[in-house]
Amino acid sequence: TDADAAVQSAQRAFASGAWSGLRPAERERILLRLADLLEAHAEELAQLETLNQGKSIQLARAIEVGGSIEFVRYMAGWATKITGETMEVSIPAPPGARFTAFTRREPIGVAVGIVPWNFPLMIAVWKLVPALAAGCSVVLKPASETPLTALRLAELVQQAGVPPGVVNVVTGPGASVGQALAGHPLVGKVSFTGSTEVGKTVGHAALDNMTRLGLELGGKNPMLVLADADIERAAEGALLGAFLNQGQVCAAASRLYVHRSKFQALTEALAEAIAGMRLGPGLDLNARVNPLVSQRQQQAVCRLLERSRAQGARA
Ligand code: NAD
Repeated sequence: TDADAAVQSAQRAFASGAWSGLRPAERERILLRLADLLEAHAEELAQLETLNQGKSIQLARAIEVGGSIEFVRYMAGWATKITGETMEVSIPAPPGARFTAFTRREPIGVAVGIVPWNFPLMIAVWKLVPALAAGCSVVLKPASETPLTALRLAELVQQAGVPPGVVNVVTGPGASVGQALAGHPLVGKVSFTGSTEVGKTVGHAALDNMTRLGLELGGKNPMLVLADADIERAAEGALLGAFLNQGQVCAAASRLYVHRSKFQALTEALAEAIAGMRLGPGLDLNARVNPLVSQRQQQAVCRLLERSRAQGARA
């Protein structure tokens, strides 16, 4: 019911032209105001994210909030730079006819953004702001574990001057709320970031309505250490790649391929650095390893460790 109400609200706001009908420069100005508001509330948003998600406050400040502010400013500039093309088309009939064709980019309507729990504010902003710059209305669904910054973002969006109904946030479980949004016939585009498994479900739901679809799914990315690598720097890079946000990163360097000549030295450098990493809450500036997002995730990671041990790994 909430998902449907949010889509209806977004659709009504879109049809009213209160946002979609603004001159692009007016949309740009409001989005730049949103960036200023995010900046003014940066510390509050960073702490909210850390308390909700568990991540390091330094990461929350730099990436989650700092990155979001830069991104909003960049995307605000696109509102005035969306163009089409004109072309002379060589259709040979009727004889002697000349044709000029043009493309014109128009907002799709209601865009749905389904957001994972690893970078809740930043990925919400990635989905929200390009759609707003283009003149679309938006329904955001944060992950059920991490709804708080998306809700605060919605308040700031309102304060920036985006008209009521244009931006909607629906919290709740993915299987009900997310599924209802992905399969809603009034939705023009679904943008999903999350696991490959859920991405397939979302894709099917969207396809049934021929809804446009964007999927950003899971990764399993290798880091390569070549024969001429500097061991100290390679170890630093590998640590960052594997442990940033406790490894809860789609682009994490979760596999290491090391040149035979460097294998022993890098293994020792990594083992030493990892042994020195301190555990602690996200607000503790000296902690290098912070809590995982949920107990469910913690248990999933423990199961992976057990499986690795059973297969002969040494910790
Ligand atoms: P998830 O797939 O469990 O959840 C993502 C979102 O989808 C959440 O909001 C969830 O509530 C919702 N959802 C769950 N079931 C749904 C359904 N049936 N229909 C619609 N929505 C549903 O993913 P997660 O555990 O939150 O995120 C971790 C995953 O995201 C990892 O696989 C990671 O690699 C990936 N990820 C990818 C990128 C990228 O850019 N490629 C970025 C961040 C995270």
